Amino acid sequence: MINFLSKLADAIFNQRLPCLLVLCLSLLPFVAHAALLIRISEGKDEHVQIELKTTEGESICTGRNGQVFNPALGTRKLSDTSYIQALNSEATDGAQYLKAARMGGGIYMYLPFFFPARECKEPIFEFEAKHILWAGKWHADKITLTLDEAKGKAIFFTNELTPTVQGSHYFDPAILEPTLTKLQTAFQKISTFYRDTFNFNAQNELGIVTAIVRNKGSYSGYGGDSLNIIRMSYDNPTPAQVLKLDEILPSTFAHELAHKLQTDGLHNRPLARFIVEGQADFLKIVVMFNSGLISEDAAKNQIRKAASECEKFSDARTLHEKFAQNSYEFREPYDCGMLYYFVAYYSSGLQTSDFVAAFRQAMRNENSYGGKENDLCLLVESTCHNERLLGVVGDKSQLKQQILWLESVLQNNPLPSLNGRN
Ligand SMILES: [Zn+2]
Repeated sequence: MINFLSKLADAIFNQRLPCLLVLCLSLLPFVAHAALLIRISEGKDEHVQIELKTTEGESICTGRNGQVFNPALGTRKLSDTSYIQALNSEATDGAQYLKAARMGGGIYMYLPFFFPARECKEPIFEFEAKHILWAGKWHADKITLTLDEAKGKAIFFTNELTPTVQGSHYFDPAILEPTLTKLQTAFQKISTFYRDTFNFNAQNELGIVTAIVRNKGSYSGYGGDSLNIIRMSYDNPTPAQVLKLDEILPSTFAHELAHKLQTDGLHNRPLARFIVEGQADFLKIVVMFNSGLISEDAAKNQIRKAASECEKFSDARTLHEKFAQNSYEFREPYDCGMLYYFVAYYSSGLQTSDFVAAFRQAMRNENSYGGKENDLCLLVESTCHNERLLGVVGDKSQLKQQILWLESVLQNNPLPSLNGRN
């Protein structure tokens, strides 16, 4: 889910920019010049409370139509200085998605949704809560952020007296023992693997929030997103599913951390979503297997499952055609992407360490990664000569041949083994 939210919110924020010249000029004499303080805290009845103040006691900026925040996002005006935002964890379409959401005993907010109208000068956010998770660290009572600092970022805060935390990782108190300990152990193994093998220390700069979400039961499923806070949730699980959190969420964590090794440039490529999610799902399996969290058989079965799901999505069109038409299933980039990168690995003929080195360069969107780009095709290049990979992104019959080939390879070959050497 990398960057989807930030792009969406940027689009919303930018909508305010092209205001009509006449309107802008008419507002100019009334614009207040004092900095606007936006004080945010947990309110009553599953709401976020937003209080506005100016630093020099001047009047509050009016904003468009007298609204400082975009009412289309559901931020309700109570008075010129007071707004509330209902917590809503529904994963509905577009801008409604997780602007402010209950996560366990705390609240997760995606800040660009709360950027004030542009008439409001020098806005400063002030968050008040007992424990505030920002930039991978816990802050007590209060934190202030400029608009620049908040751009594209999320924050989490809680008023629990003793929240369940492990470093910069917050856990919903509804996650009970022994699941909690199993989950923490698994997350620790994954973090350690990323630190030792890929030199990426999640605890240094990221906040992590894991929660069970209850939102009237209208949606059930699990997932995560990866901004400055990695947010993982299982929405409306059954009691049986709650007991399996420790089997499911570590995979999500391994996937979201993989996104942290990627650079934004990947998003500008054709088939960007296929590349971004496929790489993350490939690395997820490699990390889960190499950190000892899943057996080789289980890992291979997950690859087989992805391949079979990918085959179900396929039809007479090539992947390029589907993406050009913007008509593909939500899971397609994940399942077909994972398949693509395992075929890339087994068809490369490279030692694991050499393949992973090239793969990591490709994750950084480097055009040149080891001199065999047209064979490795790790960025799904249009100049690719690798017949197997061309088959994976081809039509159904071409794809089927490569799935059969991968199955025979999986039966006779080990999974990529890193053993901390890369
Ligand atoms: Zn992802």
